[in-house]
Order: sequence, then structure tokens, then C-alpha cells
Amino acid sequence: MSCKIYMDHAATTELLPEVKKAMEPYLMDEFGNASTSYEMGKKTRRVLEESRERIAAAVDAHPEEIFFTSGGSESDNWVIKNVAGAKKKTGKHIITSKIEHHAVLRSCEYMESLGYDVTYLDVDEYGMVDTKTLRDALREDTTLVSIMTGNNEIGTIEPVAEIGKELKGKGIAFHTDAVQAVGQIPLSMARLPVDYLSASAHKFHGPKGVGFLYVRKDRDLPSFIHGGGQERGKRAGTENVAGIVGMAEALSIAAGEMHLTRPRLVRLRNYFTERLLHEIPDIRLNGHPYKRLPGNVNVSVKDVDATSLLILLEEEGVCASAGSACSSGQTRVSHVIDAIQVPSEWAPGSIRFTMGRQTGKAEVDATINAMKKCVQILRG
Ligand SMILES: *Cc1c(COP(=O)(O)O)cnc(C)c1O
Repeated sequence: MSCKIYMDHAATTELLPEVKKAMEPYLMDEFGNASTSYEMGKKTRRVLEESRERIAAAVDAHPEEIFFTSGGSESDNWVIKNVAGAKKKTGKHIITSKIEHHAVLRSCEYMESLGYDVTYLDVDEYGMVDTKTLRDALREDTTLVSIMTGNNEIGTIEPVAEIGKELKGKGIAFHTDAVQAVGQIPLSMARLPVDYLSASAHKFHGPKGVGFLYVRKDRDLPSFIHGGGQERGKRAGTENVAGIVGMAEALSIAAGEMHLTRPRLVRLRNYFTERLLHEIPDIRLNGHPYKRLPGNVNVSVKDVDATSLLILLEEEGVCASAGSACSSGQTRVSHVIDAIQVPSEWAPGSIRFTMGRQTGKAEVDATINAMKKCVQILRG
């Protein structure tokens, strides 16, 4: 069953018709393996390298700095486990934050099980990592710092450029999970001082199961999957050609439209937030008031349980999310809501609406009306 009003673009986005069309030839007629020597294979090789160029262009990087992966989780795992792993002779200390995606947090916990030391930085009430707190946490044996670009639950945009400057010249690898930011906010790898960046196609209207890892030139990149030597020997396996072509098309479209989509979503987000805060009693915004992802509205409703609220909202045709999609189904308060210390009467009522390129004012108005009705029922 599909949602009448889809307010969960941070969980995933729908494939654009243009993207589907770009992918189709590579699902059918153009099925050649890029590692073969005849013309059909060579054509696949060419289209893969063209896709790499298009992706690099969209984030202002060099094509050699783009490695195709199966998505955001893989890109995060690759850096946390293998980049930190390769530096174990220098040190075994990793720094991250308490509000990272589980793909980062669980990978860090895995590294702890191997004897690594991980510092999970606190964030402020808005979910911001403080550069000074990070500086104080640095040690002689710190080899990797991983701080996300934009938070998937509360939308807060982290001071990644400032953190990168702080780390410059210290020989510490800096990774950012930019899965929620790529295609949403401008990113220039030529200017942003990060060494590794994770992205995922299905968060910007591309297909699921494909993403990329940006790796700055000359940075260490141990092989993640050993085998046939694809991705310059770093990530073996016959390439997901259709997926990669779709990702390149989707990112090119997102980058090309960003100057229109982004300000429109920011206005819509502010309108949505203001109306919720004014028209529903005892409701508060989570995350930073303006340093936040364009389409993200996350609020806590006092004395209401988000799981019940989501069920009622769905009956009104609105699909939204409580916590992150990965941890839904469990009514536990999310680690992000915990980390920003939302008071206990409010925390269980935390709900996330994330808008995208198809969301208009009509959908927002209908969502506000549904929220007013459902909250009233639950408080009834
Ligand atoms: C969705 C998401 C991921 C995981 O990406 P997949 O491609 O679904 O594996 C990682 N980090 C963040 C911030 C995300 O929003």
C-alpha cells in the first residue's frame, strides 16, 4: 500500500521516471560485463566511467576519488573498519559522535570488540558537535574521526568544514557520513576538508542498494572486498551497472535542481514548523532551528506516544517516522533524541517528517490538519 502523503524522504525516496529510463538499457540489452574484452563489455566499462565522472562532477571531486559501493552502510563500514584497521600500528583510538547513524555506531562497537578505543562525543541541545570538545578528545593514538554531515533524525547540519580544519596536518583521517546531505545541500569536495565521504543513491531518488565512497587522492584505502580487482582492486565484484547509471542520473538531476528545490523546501519546512508550534499545544522542535537539512521537521509532542501517533497518521494517509526507520517497530526512544536530552515527558512523542522534491504546500497543510486531529484524539 502506498502513502497518500509521503513524509519520510529521509528513510528513502522514490525512483524518478528519468532515472528508471536511464537504467533500463543496462537491465536488458546492454548486459555486458565491464571486465570482458569484446565491444559489449567495453561499452559497459565506458558507461561506468562516465557515471563516475558525472558523480564526481556533482560533488566537485575527481573521478578517481569515487568508489562505487552497495550504499551508505557499506561505505561507512569500509572506512570505520578498514581505514582504522590499517592504521592500527599508529594507534587504536577512534572519535565519533553519539548521534551517528547505526552503520557508523555499530561499526565502532565492532572495532571496540577488537580492542580499539572509541570516544562517542556528546552533542549540544540542538545535536551539534562542538569543535572544541572534539579537540579536547584528540589523543596521540587517534587515527580516525567520523562525524556526519547532516543528521538523519533531527536534521542538524554539523560543522564538518570547521572540524576538518581542526584536524588538518595532524595525520588523522576524517570521515563524514553525508548520506542525508548529498543531493540536498551543496558539497564541494575540492573545498571541504574531509578525506572520506559516504553517500547512498536511494536517498536522492536513485535506486536502492547502490552508493559511493569518496576518498581524497593519496589517502589510504585498504581493499574491502577481495576478488576480481574491480574498483581498482579495492572493491571486487561485478559492478551493479544499472544501479550505478541510475545513481549518476539521479545525482545529476538533484545537483542541477538544487538551486530551486533547496530554498523551496527550506520555506516549506519553516512554514510547517511554525504552524505546528503555534497550532498544537505542548510541542517542541528537535534539532537546530536553521542549521538543518532543507526538508526535515522533527518535533516532540508532550504526553503522546509516537508509535500510536504514527498509526493514527497513517489512517489519515500520512506516512512519517519515529526515530530512524532502522529502529522503528521498537518504542524505545532513539539514541539521537536521548543524546539531545529531550525531557522524559516529551521524548516518547518524537516524530519525524521529511519532505522531498514532490512535497508541496497542499501535502504540508494536510499533514498539519492530520497532526492536530490525531494529537487531540490521543490526548482526548
Ligand atoms: C540511510 C542512511 C544510511 C544507510 O544507507 P543505506 O544505503 O540505506 O545503507 C547511512 N547513514 C545515514 C545518515 C542514512 O540516512
